Amino acid sequence: MATLTALKQALKAKVPNKTPQHPLSEAEYAAGFSRLVNGSAEYKDFIAPQLARVLTPLFNSRNRISVLEIGPGAESVLCSLPENMRRKITRYVAYEPNNSYAAKLEELISPAPPGNNNNGDVEGPPFLSLAGPPVIHRRAFTIPPTGDNTTAPSPADEDAPEKDFDVILFCHSLYGMNDKHAHILAALDLLIHNPADGLVIVFHRDDGTLDPRRLLCRHVATYPSGVVRVRDTREALNAFCSFIAGFSVRDGMTLMEWRAVCRAVGHRDEAREDGKTLVFSAPGIMLAFGRNARQETLSGLRSRVEGFDMVAVKNKEARRYRPSAVMRPESVEQVQECVRWALENGVGLTVVGGGHSGHCVWPYVVAVSMRAFNIVSVVRDGSGGESGDGALVVAGSGCTTRDIVNRIMDTGLVVPLGSRPSVGAGLWLQGGIGHLARQYGLSCDAVVGAVLVRVDSGDVVYVGQVPGQHRPAGATRAENEEDILWALKGAGTNFAIVVSVVFKAFESSSPAPIYYGVWHWVAPLSDNDEAQRMIAYFDVIARELPRQLSSDAFLFWDEGRLHLGVSMYGPWATFNGEEAKRYAAKFGNRFGQTVTEVKKVDTIGLFETDMYMSEMHGGHAGGKTSSFKRCVFLDHIGKNAVGKDEVAKALIAAMETRPSPLCYLHLLHGGGAVRDTAPEATAFGCRKWEFACVITGVWPRDQDGTQTSRAAIDWVYNVVHTLLPPWLSSGVYGADLGPDPRDAALARKAFGPNRPRLARLKQQLDRHNVLVHTCPLPKAPMEPKLILLVTGESGVGKDTCAELWIELMANEEPRHGSDTCNTFDAASISKYTKMEYAAAHGASLYRLNHDRAYKEQRRPALTAFFKEQVKLRPKLPEEHFLRVVYDAANEVWDDRHPGTDVLFITGMRDEDPVAKFCHLVPDSRVLEVRITASREARESRGVHVLDDDSSTGSGTNPGNHCRPTLVFDNSTPENDTLEAFATEHLFPLLHPDLEKLASMIRTIPGFPHLDIDFRHVLDIAQQPGGLSLCASLLQSHFSGTWSSVNRIVCCEAGGFVFASALGMRVDTPLALIRKGPGKMPPPRVSVAMEDASHISSRSSLGDGESSAAAVLEMESGLVAKGDKVVVVDDVLATGKTLCAVLRLLVGQIGLAVEDVSVLVVAEFPVHRGRDALRRNGFGGVGVRSLMVFGGA
Ligand SMILES: Cc1cc2nc3c(=O)[nH]c(=O)nc-3n(C[C@H](O)[C@H](O)[C@H](O)COP(=O)(O)OP(=O)(O)OC[C@H]3O[C@@H](n4cnc5c(N)ncnc54)[C@H](O)[C@@H]3O)c2cc1C
Repeated sequence: MATLTALKQALKAKVPNKTPQHPLSEAEYAAGFSRLVNGSAEYKDFIAPQLARVLTPLFNSRNRISVLEIGPGAESVLCSLPENMRRKITRYVAYEPNNSYAAKLEELISPAPPGNNNNGDVEGPPFLSLAGPPVIHRRAFTIPPTGDNTTAPSPADEDAPEKDFDVILFCHSLYGMNDKHAHILAALDLLIHNPADGLVIVFHRDDGTLDPRRLLCRHVATYPSGVVRVRDTREALNAFCSFIAGFSVRDGMTLMEWRAVCRAVGHRDEAREDGKTLVFSAPGIMLAFGRNARQETLSGLRSRVEGFDMVAVKNKEARRYRPSAVMRPESVEQVQECVRWALENGVGLTVVGGGHSGHCVWPYVVAVSMRAFNIVSVVRDGSGGESGDGALVVAGSGCTTRDIVNRIMDTGLVVPLGSRPSVGAGLWLQGGIGHLARQYGLSCDAVVGAVLVRVDSGDVVYVGQVPGQHRPAGATRAENEEDILWALKGAGTNFAIVVSVVFKAFESSSPAPIYYGVWHWVAPLSDNDEAQRMIAYFDVIARELPRQLSSDAFLFWDEGRLHLGVSMYGPWATFNGEEAKRYAAKFGNRFGQTVTEVKKVDTIGLFETDMYMSEMHGGHAGGKTSSFKRCVFLDHIGKNAVGKDEVAKALIAAMETRPSPLCYLHLLHGGGAVRDTAPEATAFGCRKWEFACVITGVWPRDQDGTQTSRAAIDWVYNVVHTLLPPWLSSGVYGADLGPDPRDAALARKAFGPNRPRLARLKQQLDRHNVLVHTCPLPKAPMEPKLILLVTGESGVGKDTCAELWIELMANEEPRHGSDTCNTFDAASISKYTKMEYAAAHGASLYRLNHDRAYKEQRRPALTAFFKEQVKLRPKLPEEHFLRVVYDAANEVWDDRHPGTDVLFITGMRDEDPVAKFCHLVPDSRVLEVRITASREARESRGVHVLDDDSSTGSGTNPGNHCRPTLVFDNSTPENDTLEAFATEHLFPLLHPDLEKLASMIRTIPGFPHLDIDFRHVLDIAQQPGGLSLCASLLQSHFSGTWSSVNRIVCCEAGGFVFASALGMRVDTPLALIRKGPGKMPPPRVSVAMEDASHISSRSSLGDGESSAAAVLEMESGLVAKGDKVVVVDDVLATGKTLCAVLRLLVGQIGLAVEDVSVLVVAEFPVHRGRDALRRNGFGGVGVRSLMVFGGA
């Protein structure tokens, strides 16, 4: 399958010199263009999602967006943005030289005449908030006539392009422009100056003709699998060829030749339309530039850190990329310089370790090579000497496997590593599977400490065990070191630039230097039945091996036949023992004689003995090959537990579709110690596997970058996809999954249950997306939007209520008219305790879950067991909470619904669960729904009610315990009470107006400090309709009765704004609280305020604005004992302002806690405001917030 660029060259070559070449008429252009667009999924699969992704932060930070589209054609690409983004576009300008396109565009975008807007079937205009008519210039975008691209044209110049755009978009329009680089520079000058975060975005064919090497990109995305399909008809091919060639010809002979060229170089898709479709490869790229894209920005970095050439990059595909620069820091300070430079300029970085992955360098991005950090040290007893137990090996991140092995070979110490000597830090940061894994575990399991440069700040920190002499000057212990160390063990390339890691080393039982033995057998296979049988034999024998021995298998094609190669490895001492000989005999009986004598090799030599190096294809095809790999984990390759051998069949089928005879499958032996670590214990969450199947696409090196290499890479992805279903594989190896969109589906399977935790850590530790070109971890939190904790005593009907409410809410949703539907689930948190109890006491888990009488009998024992466990693991309740949330987050409902949106959690035993857990899931709204029921109702459900029975805190002391958000009395079995409750209290929680309100809150990155992304909650009031929308939501989210409320109490400044609008709506007077002293006339009541610690207090913003204001004051007599009040505020963060207000109302005036309710517009749970209320005795105050935000 040729690329469109290759096709263009081939078409041009067929035009005889004398044949006239006519410029394309508008009609010819339109005909060719529509063939291209209709035959490609690029707009849907690449352009639309990438555009939305790259523009989201910009749109979140602005309410008015000004766009310039260059050569959009008949339809603006921006129409594909979600409605809440399109609504922010207030100015639209385009350059479109094709008259008929320009006319259609104008018609599409112009606001509809009044009264004709969105009336039924007629779709409204895409940009509803345009401040004026769209400006569509019917001409090409040109470089300003001065010829000086670096200066913006003067505004007095009539031909001068308009300026001050937030977004400038070239969607394929650069093709017709000769100096693409100059056009991009000219566009950069038209971006708005202040703020300077506008973007010029380019979508183009990734064919090497676009070379903005002299520019620095903020975002890059590629679409390597893009194709264009064209019908193989005379008319379609004629139109298509003219468009691709860029001119038309009139002579029939040339047109005939052109069609023949298409048929010769295109791939015929036999499966489609009777084989009448031709397919061409059309890889795409997106580049986004900010105002700082010019060369000078890079020179700022070059003056601080040395550069180097690309020699360190081993991966052939990666070597073809053109990074903006490759830096080689010599010190930790220089690594910090690189990170700080990236943060200052809002760009990403890549990191080069051993250089084996395809994305240690990335086009138009600065790479940081860690080559200089190549020292390996051995530390014994923490003293730095070399005797005694507990040895540590400290390895700089520029080390290779060979460096580490060479250093420790003579010490008798072992660190389990992979087998390729030149592989670097990427291996131990992402897993590390080798022949020693069965005995010692993965490389990442042996990591006990690390030094790293944080990519959110440029600070240098250490985590875990790092001997004092290996801590760089100025390094501090990371606050969240537990999380960081956990993440480094399996997903370690995504969160920081790692300077060094510390391995715990194992003491070998063999004397130093350690040698290993290797045996190989190779069996030619006559047909698929034999292949299946042999794979099954291998599976059985390999599973029996003791941990010191491991055996790999290779499925490969040679001399026109499929072969199964088998290798057995082990320490030399074990190899000479009886047990090893017995297994060698077993392998020999099945797979024939050994193909080589047993080899004795050192750790480095192990690599050279690998079968693909030493035996297959004449020994690695003479070494003149390139390869591409992805790896899936397989538990059974022979017959599985139910006697099926689908995996073996899939492996054999994969070999049948190999695009080149050099492609092969390598099955690395796992199990053993790999399984000893629980999936949640490290980020490397896939533990249930016996074989790591490396699908290896191989091609001759001189075919790098050609169709041959592309076919091999496609084959690897196709095979992985056939193996992905859970009944075939148990996960994917995360190593080397990168920005290629085809890796996204693999990354979803890469970390077992740990993806939600990794997503959250990615958001926390790499909030500026510096390491954006690594493994595609989710950028947004995966936890449910809404979590309802259904609490209540045993037998009140928590599970039944949850199930029924789910049904009602799911049925109600479509009526809200929102574009997307939520997914709902209910789960009992007690299942983990039941599982652990059943395992510890031999009880039946099934009956604990399904047999009420059986469970009731064991209830006291279960409770006692849980309490006992909490004594041993004080964080158990938090662990269980996150487990139930993450299980729901990992639930895949279908392609469009990965994860659960609304989760009901039942079975909770904790008191004040919202205050206790909400900060753990700071992007989720967490509410408690307490179910109550009469004793009779509970007993009728088979519960033996004890007199002091209370499985959750019932809140008898309203000050010490939190008031549940909602209470439902389930004493009667009527469904309509459940339904009425859902209608009144639950449906509003998902009303689309909440999302609309959230979209009005701009995020201002780096304000008031670099490390804060400020959410401008007050801005709601500055937007058309914002205040009334917010007031109506506050009104409907109050669970009491407005007519019984005497006053709405509010504190300046944010509280005044929202309370005023609400007060008018519910016709309730306000009681204003000012921050004094001396702001309110006497007589007044006042209360001192604690010093604020909320991050925004540093600049007098939001709820922490108390540092300068020590007193809250309210006029006396507005609120009196016995009154019912609702406190309204804009933000709940640390809760300090709210606590002071409550001290005034409850402590000074004497209001009852239960007569005070609180409504806030936005809550920031990470600051644990609810917990502060509880600790200060205000738990009994009902608190509702409209929105929650995960950041500061
Ligand atoms: C020939 C070959 C043999 C292999 N054999 C094995 C094997 O036996 N077992 C096994 O488990 N895997 C094996 N792999 C896979 C290997 O583990 C990965 O390719 C790994 O990513 C290579 O790491 P690297 O440092 O050499 O590559 P690089 O491309 O330099 O790095 C890989 C990734 O790690 C990131 N990275 C590197 N250094 C740092 C750092 N200091 N801080 C933060 N991020 C960093 C890079 O940015 C990149 O994303 C093999 C790969 C090849 C090509």
